[in-house]
Amino acid sequence: MSKTIGIDLGTTNSCVSVVEGGHPVIIPNDKGERTTPSVVAFTNEGERLVGAAAVRQEAVNAKRTISSIKRQMGTDWKINIDGKSWTPQEISAMILRKLRTDAENYLGEPVTDAVITVPAYFNDIQRQATKDAGKIAGLNVKRIINEPTSAALAYGLNTGTAQKVMVYDLGGGTFDVSIIEIGESVIEVLATSGDNHLGGDDFDERIVSWIADEAQRKNHVNLRSDIVALARVREAAEQAKKELSAAETTQITLPYITQQNGQPVHIELALTRAKFNDLTRDLVERTAGPVQNALNDAGIAASELGKVLLVGGSTRIPAVQQKVRQLTGMEPSKNINPDECVAQGAAIQGDTLSGSHALSVNKSILLLDVTPLSLSIETVGGVATRLVERNSTLPVHYSQVFTTAAPFQSSVEIHVLQGERPMAADNKTIGKFKLKGIKRAPAGVPQIEVTFDIDTNGILRVSAKDQDTGKEQGITITANDKMSDAEIDAAIRDAEQYAAQDQVRREALETGHEAQQLINNVEKALDGKGKQIDKAEKKQIKENVNALRKLLYKNKPDQMTAEELSHIRAAMEQVRQSSSRWMN
Ligand code: AMP
Repeated sequence: MSKTIGIDLGTTNSCVSVVEGGHPVIIPNDKGERTTPSVVAFTNEGERLVGAAAVRQEAVNAKRTISSIKRQMGTDWKINIDGKSWTPQEISAMILRKLRTDAENYLGEPVTDAVITVPAYFNDIQRQATKDAGKIAGLNVKRIINEPTSAALAYGLNTGTAQKVMVYDLGGGTFDVSIIEIGESVIEVLATSGDNHLGGDDFDERIVSWIADEAQRKNHVNLRSDIVALARVREAAEQAKKELSAAETTQITLPYITQQNGQPVHIELALTRAKFNDLTRDLVERTAGPVQNALNDAGIAASELGKVLLVGGSTRIPAVQQKVRQLTGMEPSKNINPDECVAQGAAIQGDTLSGSHALSVNKSILLLDVTPLSLSIETVGGVATRLVERNSTLPVHYSQVFTTAAPFQSSVEIHVLQGERPMAADNKTIGKFKLKGIKRAPAGVPQIEVTFDIDTNGILRVSAKDQDTGKEQGITITANDKMSDAEIDAAIRDAEQYAAQDQVRREALETGHEAQQLINNVEKALDGKGKQIDKAEKKQIKENVNALRKLLYKNKPDQMTAEELSHIRAAMEQVRQSSSRWMN
């Protein structure tokens, strides 16, 4: 049976894991790195880049480079590149496809099954969009699970004592805090809170700003107006921040960062941890409010927590850890890499679902999550009438009977909303549909039962039934931001077409390398044994080598077609055959 991989599809970085020999292991990408930047780029040459390669060219290709696509999941955001418009699902699918390919290369077998994690506060549309992204990437998404739940699985907390746990997750661009309750075989998210725009990037920006101020003061240059210089500064700032997690001081060296009066400007600065803490104190402090909100919503005091788990790369910052200690009064657990534990938990869940039970703890885990926001429908006067309260435990099944507002109304519109505000207009519309064919009757007579069903993936289905006629309308969520099946199919075809091209590109690179080596070896042999080789034979070998070299120059690996690749292979074969006698 093929393996089920666990994917942490992050705002800044993504990570993929699989259970092997009873333990979740992190699958490195093709560069050997354990996390992959969630960044996609379209180069001017028509190539698509994902991960570090996309990040590297961002400064010079900003308009065609997409980062933090996770923030757009479930919205109608689109980007137009060369006349084609791309949805967040399709961009995310490119990241997922890369992770899938890395997993296939690592495992040496095809991978289709996956568990993908999402933030606990993701609504139905965002979860569905994530599932669709998986589908476009050719994945069978067996389960969407909440990130904090996944972290708890990675820590093996499902097998220990019953307790309440805080998951403090500070990543690159977002901060999430969740309180979860771990029972015998149940993990339940009691409450979630956070800040959608707080993360490591903000810490980087503070250092960038400090460097720019210092450059202005000492060198009288304005780095803020030079995008290419700023990209280098940003990279150096992140590096300095990471170093300060382990050292008290770090050196920031940026030679030739810009020019002034035709002279190169070099920047050399020392940043201490104390100064860094000063620059970022308010950012660390901003995590306190959501921590308190989550505790309040869960109805517990910090002293009732059994554990605090640190998740997200930014929890490596000592001042952040200190803040967590101060807020919770306990030493946080950090023995699993904070940027890897969510993916590990997803792999564990995947292993359980696939029934392979490679995991040493052979136990199925029931994951109970909560609705992050209340769900309502719009009723008379634009009021949002709540059917499902925020933080209700999944799965949810709830029905309520409504009636008509106008006499002889033959249809009603069910306007499904998400949010905490009392008026419909202030909440988010997540779906709308019409129930037609209601029996004509005075206002207030028809009995229309509206049912909300949310499954364990957090996917919502709404239905309405006229109790008199028995007419029922299954919901089709008509939010524009959900993709239709046809759109998904088109996107899958497109992704597959690119997968074939990617394959050619990979093979072209490998073949080009091999061909160059062959040329070098043959030329070396001709040099060494030249005198022993018959003139005509030597001429033939040289001609074959030149023909191969010409093909290599003519066809750039990143634009090569399958046909051109086969010509190169044929030319290599000619070289091999003509020179085989002399190669040993
Ligand atoms: P994640 O999204 O969980 O991978 O977190 C990414 C964020 O963690 C980025 O902002 C990184 O700069 C940050 N990060 C990674 N390693 C460290 C470290 N050693 N110290 C401070 N921040 C780090």
